[in-house]
Amino acid sequence: MAETCKTCRDLLAAALDLCVRARKMDEQDRRVATLAASVDGASWVESGRFDEYVRRHNIHYPDRSIAPKSATIHLWVQEQYDTDLAAWERNARHHLTQGCNSPKDTK
Ligand SMILES: [Zn+2]
Repeated sequence: MAETCKTCRDLLAAALDLCVRARKMDEQDRRVATLAASVDGASWVESGRFDEYVRRHNIHYPDRSIAPKSATIHLWVQEQYDTDLAAWERNARHHLTQGCNSPKDTK
């Protein structure tokens, strides 16, 4: 079985964390955009029909899901994400350039 070096594992874990964070921001963006495009978003939410819509939408489009609850994505969250993503990209490129320290794949 091929071993994965610690740097690779750390990079992979960081990438998965970035994916989760990006998905949460995308889900909030979709929620805001969907309500903004509706005739009367406020009453859609109040009536409970929006929750129903979100549930159905998320079943049909699991890879384009809408956040079930409203949460403001603060600017600093987006900025921190961009900073972390740029750092991750630098580290990943560096590791690819330097070569992996993992033991040679024997397969
Ligand atoms: Zn590696």
